[in-house]
Formats: sequence, C-alpha cells, structure tokens
Amino acid sequence: MFNSLSDRLTATFKNLRGKGRLTEADVDGTVREIRRALLDADVAVPVVREFTAHVKERALGEEVSQALNPGQQVVKIVNDELVRILGGETRRINLAKNPPTVIMLAGLQGAGKTTLAGKLAKWLKGQGHTPLLVACDLQRPNAVKQLQVNGERAGVPVYAPHPGVSSEFEASTGDPVVVARNGVSEARQKQHDIVIVDTAGRLGVDAEMMQQAADIRAAINPHEVLFVIDAMIGQDAVNTAQAFNDGVNFTGVVLSKLDGDARGGAALSVASVTGKPVMFASTGEGLDDFEVFHPDRMASRILD
Ligand code: GDP
Repeated sequence: MFNSLSDRLTATFKNLRGKGRLTEADVDGTVREIRRALLDADVAVPVVREFTAHVKERALGEEVSQALNPGQQVVKIVNDELVRILGGETRRINLAKNPPTVIMLAGLQGAGKTTLAGKLAKWLKGQGHTPLLVACDLQRPNAVKQLQVNGERAGVPVYAPHPGVSSEFEASTGDPVVVARNGVSEARQKQHDIVIVDTAGRLGVDAEMMQQAADIRAAINPHEVLFVIDAMIGQDAVNTAQAFNDGVNFTGVVLSKLDGDARGGAALSVASVTGKPVMFASTGEGLDDFEVFHPDRMASRILD
C-alpha cells in the first residue's frame, strides 16, 4: 500500500534538492506534482484541494526554519499535512470509568470486522484487559462461528445468541439488538472490563442494515464505535464512510487490508472527510496482523 504515492512524492522532492531558495514557480510546480500524485493515488478531490492549499500557503509563508533547507521544509510541510489528514495525534481507546468499556464494530460485509474483533480482543488481552466478544452479526451465515474460532485462537470468550450455535437457522432467528444488550449484561455480570460487539454488514450501504446498526448503538451506548473499512475498495471508501458516519456516528476508523497493494489514497481520505481519527490498522489475515495506528509514523513511512 502507498508504494506508488510514496515513490511519486519522493521523486517530486528530489527536484527541490540543492535549491537555495524556493521561488513561487518552484512551489507551484511542486504543489502541482503533489496534487497529481494524490489524485492518482485515489485521495478524494476535496481532501487533495485542502491539502495542496495548505502546502502552498505554508511553503510561501513566513515560517522559515534555519535548520532546514527549502526542499526539506517542503517535505516537513507535506509530512505535517499527511499527519493532519490522518487524524493528528495517535488516539487511544476511550476507556469507561465504570467498566465494561463497550466497543462496537461497524462496516460493510467483508470489510474485516470479524477478523478485527479477534485481533483487537487478543491485543487488549495482552495489555491485561479481560475482553468479551459478542456475536451480533446474525446476517452472514458463518459469522458467529468465525467469531467463535477467532475468540478461541485469541483465548477470549465469545457471547453468542445460542452458545455453541452451529446451524445457520438458529443464528438467523436471533435479534442482534437483544444479543448486543445481553452480551453487555453478561460482560457486566462476569466482570469483563471490555466488550467488543461485532455487527452485521451488507455488501453495500443499505437503509435496513444502517438502521440495525443504529439500533444496536442506541441499545448499548458504546464508548467507541469503530468503523472498519477495507482500504482496497478505492474511491467508494469515502462515500461508504460518510454513510456510516451519518448512520452510526462512529468515533474512530480502522483501516483493514493495509497489506494489500491498492493505491491507498481513499484510506487516507476517510479520516479527513469524516473528521474521525484512524485508530487501528489491520495488515493481514492472522490475529497478530494488527497495529495501533500512528498518523506520524504512517506519514514518515509514505515519505520515506
Ligand atoms: P466482515 O464481514 O467485516 O466480518 O469481514 P471478515 O472479518 O470476515 O473479513 C473478510 C475477509 O477479509 C476474510 O477472508 C478475512 O480473512 C480477510 N481479511 C480481514 N482483514 C484482513 C487484512 O487486514 N488483510 C487481509 N489480507 N485480509 C483480511
């Protein structure tokens, strides 16, 4: 991911090397190249517009650091802008004062929610928490089973509509809102300090699915609603993110499948267009392919 964007930006900055002072023409040329690189990487148009306007304004502005040559200054400005569009500072999970902390996952089918649920549970357990996973994706035939398998691998218990459910029929008759509520009660009773609620997605945004997610949100009043987005879906990412933001008012973004070779720009746009920070990244199918997302490190990786 981001390889081509990274190469393009690096090539652009190379042209500035050795320049003693940047003229307005230098800055214009550089900003033009940055704009093209971002658009070619699928970064959303409004995000590119704002990004390049900031870069230009700052590059022509007063803030001259003695320690950096003009080329380095542009790199620093672009770095700062990348950090900004990715949500700024690293955002930690908002833990409840009175546990359990309730974390709800939302996103399209196939986005990587169920996989992420297992990863997040394992990571939290490793930090000394005692999570409970709750299986509310009763839409996709195998989702409950898949969560149970992930839970077992992570060594984290799973609350399912009918514990040990194996038939599609049983799972599909449950009401996800009731399951979510019961799952949170179970966590409280059994003194789990964190509950992770997996929910159903559809292949595309639809009103019924969004209403279900909104109903679950209203029923369990989560401390975090994490929107999981497949970084491979390209330009659609922005519209999908906006629809989920309107529907469930998520609190943070998880970029999944960052191990893929998509251009990545859409993933870069999601935080910016929704105003919600990227908190985690999923980087493979294994339970350990998971990272806390640090906007500054991602920016450095892109500009490396
Ligand atoms: P859900 O429908 O949102 O619950 O999605 P799943 O968790 O079932 O994931 C859909 C598919 O994507 C599965 O085949 C996962 O193994 C795969 N997957 C999930 N996360 C990642 C990731 O970060 N990288 C890769 N390469 N595959 C992933």
